[in-house]
Amino acid sequence: MVYPPNESEATILNTLFLITINSFNNQLNFMKIYFLPLLFLAPVLLAQKANPNKNAVISTVIKYQQELITLSDQIWGFAEIAMRENKSAKVLADYAEAQGFKVSRGVAEIPTAFIAEFGTGKPIIGVLGEFDALPGLSQKAQPAKEALAEGAAGHGCGHNMFGAGSLGAALAIKELIAAGKLKGTIRFYGTPAEEDLAGKVYMARAGLFNDLDVCLDWHPDYENKANMQSSQAVSDYSISFKGKSAHAAADPWNGRSALDAAELFNIGINFLREHVKPSVRMHYVYTKAGKVPNVIPDEATVWLWIRDSKRSGVAEVSERMKDIAKGAALMAGVQFDIKLNSGLYELLINETGAKALQSNMNLVGPIIYTPDELAFADKIMKEYGMEAKGISGTIKPLEITRLNADNGSTDVGDVSYIVPEITLLATTAPFEAPWHSWVVVACGGMSIGHKGMLFTSKVLATTMVDLFENEKLRIAIKEEFIKRKGKEVWKAMLPDGPPPVPKD
Ligand SMILES: [Zn+2]
Repeated sequence: MVYPPNESEATILNTLFLITINSFNNQLNFMKIYFLPLLFLAPVLLAQKANPNKNAVISTVIKYQQELITLSDQIWGFAEIAMRENKSAKVLADYAEAQGFKVSRGVAEIPTAFIAEFGTGKPIIGVLGEFDALPGLSQKAQPAKEALAEGAAGHGCGHNMFGAGSLGAALAIKELIAAGKLKGTIRFYGTPAEEDLAGKVYMARAGLFNDLDVCLDWHPDYENKANMQSSQAVSDYSISFKGKSAHAAADPWNGRSALDAAELFNIGINFLREHVKPSVRMHYVYTKAGKVPNVIPDEATVWLWIRDSKRSGVAEVSERMKDIAKGAALMAGVQFDIKLNSGLYELLINETGAKALQSNMNLVGPIIYTPDELAFADKIMKEYGMEAKGISGTIKPLEITRLNADNGSTDVGDVSYIVPEITLLATTAPFEAPWHSWVVVACGGMSIGHKGMLFTSKVLATTMVDLFENEKLRIAIKEEFIKRKGKEVWKAMLPDGPPPVPKD
């Protein structure tokens, strides 16, 4: 297939494809009414134009869809937080193994990190799968707020679908490699602890992404689109001050307050705000600030995140932060220590890769919702206290590249500095749904979420078919990656030593 396909050809083909393959799945009624006449024409035209490997991967996803939904629902039910995703990682790894993947568990010294691989030699195409939940967001799969288990975690970022959807795509490609229709290696990465910032950075530090030709990932969203927006680079620091305790009334002159230093430090940080670029964000909390007012605190700790649209911007502000800590410690007459907990790179966009995703999204076709699902979406948004604007199952046109991100950070950014990375966003919740909320949890445990996940498996798998078959596409993606990366040399922003795996 010529890449990218001719627009008008693609449009006809996409429409027919949607009707014949994707829609069979669960939109039969809709189809009968609107498209039945076209259906008779489809096989004739498809025989001339369609890529049989793309047909095959879509069929495979349909074949395994119930198993993928079960995986997603199991992980949704486990709702395990970062570094504790033992059951979630296990169901995914066990399923991959049962399907014939070679599975390596506990990679990068993280018990819940794993790799499932199939095939041999080049090209090696990777796909990331997350599965960690967020604390305190437990919610039933219903359009009214009610915890599944009071105080428990919930999938407020939709990572239950993330892992299962990506594995579905890898599985479809595996079948083609096994049948001798594609040559190379497909590799699924079980990547824990995204919400804790650093799961993939530890995997990257262990060199696990180095030999990939291209890496794909996706994220649940309220729109279907190829991601063209970068993310923010961030550094996560703990700044600790150590002084001397004394009676706060009887002999305060003998004391040296670590809390004074922490407060002076934050005053410095707040004055610094005027002299940084508008893209910089600095936010902090006190994690140690004394215990009682009548004892001068001898220990205080500030937990600070510095973000900017580029790694180099974070590095610049971090140097100034270190001077402020030193100054604050001098003023208060105490000792100080700065610990880097972790840091992330911004996401490097790959427009060539995004165009490949776009073309395959059009091929797979939009997500169509039942009246019950639309009613669910309206009700849940109203229950939350927001305007109901329906669900966006359509495919958004490719947006322009946005490099000055203001949308937070992701550890996919580090992967994108090692190998070319392309990201899909797929609808799993009502339009403009509040993320990291019970609304996202509820939708991720029912058919709205399932449809987004299966759409993803098909779009990622058809895009992978292009990546396996089309060497020119891989070269073009790599050339863009090299250009965007420039002179920046990736280095894991992590403290020395093993990952912080909880002991209990
Ligand atoms: Zn997320």
